[in-house]
Amino acid sequence: MAEYKYIFGPVPSRRLGRSLGVDLTPYKTCTQDCVFCQLGRTTKKTITRREYVPTEEVLDELGQWLKRDGRADHITLSGSGEPTLHSRFGEILRFVRKNSTSRAVLLTNGSLFHLPQVRREASEAHIVKISLSAWDQASYRWVNRPHPHLDFKEVIGGQKAFRIEFKGEMWIEVFIVAGMNSIPSDVSKIAALTDLLKPDLVHLNTAVRPPAEDFVAPLSRERLATLCHLFRPPAEVIAEHKNQGGIEIRANEEAIISLLKRRPCTARDIARVFGIHFNEASKFLGNLLRQGRIRTERTNGSLYYDATTKEQTGPCPCVNTVAKNTASTSKVSQGFRGNDSRNKR
Ligand code: SF4
Repeated sequence: MAEYKYIFGPVPSRRLGRSLGVDLTPYKTCTQDCVFCQLGRTTKKTITRREYVPTEEVLDELGQWLKRDGRADHITLSGSGEPTLHSRFGEILRFVRKNSTSRAVLLTNGSLFHLPQVRREASEAHIVKISLSAWDQASYRWVNRPHPHLDFKEVIGGQKAFRIEFKGEMWIEVFIVAGMNSIPSDVSKIAALTDLLKPDLVHLNTAVRPPAEDFVAPLSRERLATLCHLFRPPAEVIAEHKNQGGIEIRANEEAIISLLKRRPCTARDIARVFGIHFNEASKFLGNLLRQGRIRTERTNGSLYYDATTKEQTGPCPCVNTVAKNTASTSKVSQGFRGNDSRNKR
């Protein structure tokens, strides 16, 4: 498998099947610091748009990948931060539309859509998925912890303007955190805002993967299901990705690390993505643990493997778990920190 710096996968997506990810920001460079973020706390909270990674290098990698493989359902701007912060993200979407048969997708928190230039660039995508989990400035602050200059009304105003201009599909993802935005009267307020955006699809998600904050608790699938009818169209609870076969993605340590840097996964997830037996996935993960390149974290009764750099923001309780599984704690810490500090939503 070729080494890429800015593209990763194809990874399994609960929304998009096999999705090739394109990472346009350094690790956790974002306009928000959502309590549920699976990448940990935001290390650089900013609303400054600039060319965070060189556009030509990203296009070059995409061109190489299209020549060598080129098979994915979607090519998705996502990764380890907010892609609309990249000042040339529209060019990447244009390139995907012109040069591949995959649909171009933008996963965004929609916080910069009040900027006409951002809306113009986002219009290059086939699908724009916006996350919306608050209903006013106060809830925006406690759930998404935005940059202080972001005003919720302005954010929603920008998203409404985008809906009017955009001819592609707009999806909304609502992330529900138990006790924070989960009571039906609050969810109804989010649904009322969602209605203004006239989405093609609404997805309900919850903290099934390790979140940024320990106090974040998921809502049960059953309780999520009771909220679906509040939305128009009725929301779908996003199911865990299942491998539908057809495209082989070769498993090796680097490919697995590349995936785990962007998304914590269980051994079963890894087995599904790469189409390998659970035991083989466990063997790869065991080797990576021994090398101190990944750590484990137990969330909602499942063991997740993780190579994101959450420990940059504070001590990571998972290091202890890794230490139990490896010969040396210091080796684990050094190995993990020595791992690619750039990183990747
Ligand atoms: S969930 Fe998305 S918008 Fe929220 S902090 Fe993480 S990367 Fe940023």
